[in-house]
Amino acid sequence: MTTSASLPTNSEDAISARGTSDGGTVTDRLVEANERYAADFTDPGMDARPVLGVAVVACMDARLDLHSALGLELGDCHTIRNAGGVVTDDVIRSLTISQRALGTRSVVLIHHTGCGLESLTEEFRQDLENEVGQRPTWAVESFRDVDQDVRQSMQRVRTSPFLLHSDDVRGFVFDVRTGLLREIDPA
Ligand SMILES: [Zn+2]
Repeated sequence: MTTSASLPTNSEDAISARGTSDGGTVTDRLVEANERYAADFTDPGMDARPVLGVAVVACMDARLDLHSALGLELGDCHTIRNAGGVVTDDVIRSLTISQRALGTRSVVLIHHTGCGLESLTEEFRQDLENEVGQRPTWAVESFRDVDQDVRQSMQRVRTSPFLLHSDDVRGFVFDVRTGLLREIDPA
């Protein structure tokens, strides 16, 4: 089995096809978009503390537009994203800084339907080792039952010794077809 750790050979073509009209790369396209954004941008005069005092931990999935889906405005929240939206040590690091240095106290966890991690197994690590000769130190954190994974993530936040606030931790599954959140009972 080949790992999907390697990009498929046609992905470079796919990316350049979505770049700029004059043949630039996708990053060139983003930089051009930023120039337009900055042209209309006015300094909101905010400090770094999120207005709503909330940190959202979510999957990196491209179909999940957190600000639109949750009615969030610029400056409202911290967003911490990774593959699966799983609560890794690095997510705890960010939450700890979010709470202790920047004043947040609520945590919202968002997984979603059709997550890529549901089709992976921990064999991914073995395949990687076979391919590159080195075993990654991190777990893949794949899962089969998204509800159970949200519960586990809530538990990891609630039991972290580093966090100041663990009384308002709620977990959800976002349906990528309907746009609706479904709350997961922590029990
Ligand atoms: Zn996902």
